[in-house]
Amino acid sequence: MSIVCAACGKISRDREFCDHCNADLQPVDDCLPPERCPLPGGEVALSASQRKVLARVEGAVALETGPARWRVHWVSMPRSRRGDRSWTIG
Ligand SMILES: [Zn+2]
Repeated sequence: MSIVCAACGKISRDREFCDHCNADLQPVDDCLPPERCPLPGGEVALSASQRKVLARVEGAVALETGPARWRVHWVSMPRSRRGDRSWTIG
């Protein structure tokens, strides 16, 4: 089964990565972060809209644990560790 690449518009037979431009063809929903973000002050539940923001590479959300406020990114690992993403907290 083929899939149309959103990046280059060509048809790719590989459903994971585009045959032509090697774009990642996984739907964004498959890349959503977990529902809870572990922070030093405790876990924070993420809303659906916050998780969608974090699914984007450049996305970040501000979370609060008591008096502390954190800016959180959900970071993509290299392809060899596909699916293994992690939090960066600042
Ligand atoms: Zn492509």
